Amino acid sequence: MHELTVAEALLDRAREVAMEHDAERIDAVTVELGAATHINPEQLRLCLETVATATVAAEATVDIETVTPRAACDCGWDGEPPSFEGTAAVVPTARCPECGTRTEFVRGKECHLSAVTVPDDADADERDTAALTTEQESYQP
Ligand SMILES: [Zn+2]
Repeated sequence: MHELTVAEALLDRAREVAMEHDAERIDAVTVELGAATHINPEQLRLCLETVATATVAAEATVDIETVTPRAACDCGWDGEPPSFEGTAAVVPTARCPECGTRTEFVRGKECHLSAVTVPDDADADERDTAALTTEQESYQP
């Protein structure tokens, strides 16, 4: 189950952040999730809540922010990939509508913590953008 693996990685990172801040618990985590990943946001939320049980993040609120896919081509075109249909069943391939070249996603494949909120600290809204895209390569067809 893919979401579970991702959730474990995200939780590990969140716990590292909590430790760096000597926090005894995590109040909230925010995850940036690209719409061009194969990760289902609701599944990911459930998995995060599951793996967080009995950890410092047991009571944490999970916020998942979906990122709209965006691609850029060497010919100068950039925008939302035309083959992306916004459903989990579609494998989004970024293909340039101008010249047909396969292009790279510049947005939409991220899956990382964007914030970890810990209590009673001046850094309570720590921004942490450590990329946790361990399996990103496997999304490329
Ligand atoms: Zn192009």
